[in-house]
Amino acid sequence: MKYYIGIDLGGTNIKAGIVDEVCRILAQSDCPTALPRPAEEVCDDMLKACTATLEQAKIGWDDITGIGIGCPGTVNSQSGIVEYSNNLAWHQFPMRDYLQSRTERPVRVGNDANVAALGEVCAGSAKGAQSAVILTLGTGVGSGVVLNSQIWSGHRYGAAEFGHMVIEQGGRLCTCGRRGCLEAYASATALIAFTKEAIGRCPESLMGKIAAENGKIDGRTAFEAMRRGDAAAGEVAETYINYLACGVANIINILQPEMISLGGGISKEGDALLEPLRKKAYAQAFGGCDAGVTRIEACTLGNQAGIIGAAMLFHQTSELAGR
Ligand SMILES: [Zn+2]
Repeated sequence: MKYYIGIDLGGTNIKAGIVDEVCRILAQSDCPTALPRPAEEVCDDMLKACTATLEQAKIGWDDITGIGIGCPGTVNSQSGIVEYSNNLAWHQFPMRDYLQSRTERPVRVGNDANVAALGEVCAGSAKGAQSAVILTLGTGVGSGVVLNSQIWSGHRYGAAEFGHMVIEQGGRLCTCGRRGCLEAYASATALIAFTKEAIGRCPESLMGKIAAENGKIDGRTAFEAMRRGDAAAGEVAETYINYLACGVANIINILQPEMISLGGGISKEGDALLEPLRKKAYAQAFGGCDAGVTRIEACTLGNQAGIIGAAMLFHQTSELAGR
């Protein structure tokens, strides 16, 4: 059995796990990223987390085939250089070489969303799919693409930004500065904005009562009110799903992947989200579409996708490729 270390480097936490070749996590440990600080210090803490995890799993460094890392930003997976990371505020940091020289183990680095997509393909909702797109509906809309069982990161490592596909010309302002991006309509942030606007228009709606009970408006408010029969909430959910379906149909038209998986908190709405989404996306896709062409499901690995996908960066060019 081969063992790998998978590291999910986030803006808040560093998560390290020992993963075996069949994608089981044997041990895991977390520590704060504690930004802002230099890349070298963060990497030193990553190594401490690795050592703690190895001790937990009773495995030595010599048993580790490789260390994979999912890192936010533009990551040159050939050179292992983090070219630019807005979240971490790093420029041109040679992460692979820094870690390789300290561990004497092979290190591979990829973009965090791409790596999480690989995790879902290796062990989660898209297991066994040759091609898949993973959309994470969170604060923004993150995305990763796996084609022929390999991450597609583009000519210069900036591909798969489906969140910044315009679905409404001249529409809502996106965090990227452009107007009408999918992220401005299909993120949890957008769903919360739609919910607030609807409560403003219909203050007597059940959404307002649920928000008052919970002390906040979040991505669940409208779906919960809809389940309890609130018509205005049903309209909010429908508007949200219409925009998401437009983006999903565009992805089908461009890539026709075997699988599109949705992650993030909103994906936990399950069939209330997925059933209307499938109907609307399949109806819009060019030339007719159904689950036999592109399946649409929720992600299943949650925040373990990053660790498993990072470890599986070592399978990407061996076992999985060329199937
Ligand atoms: Zn955008």
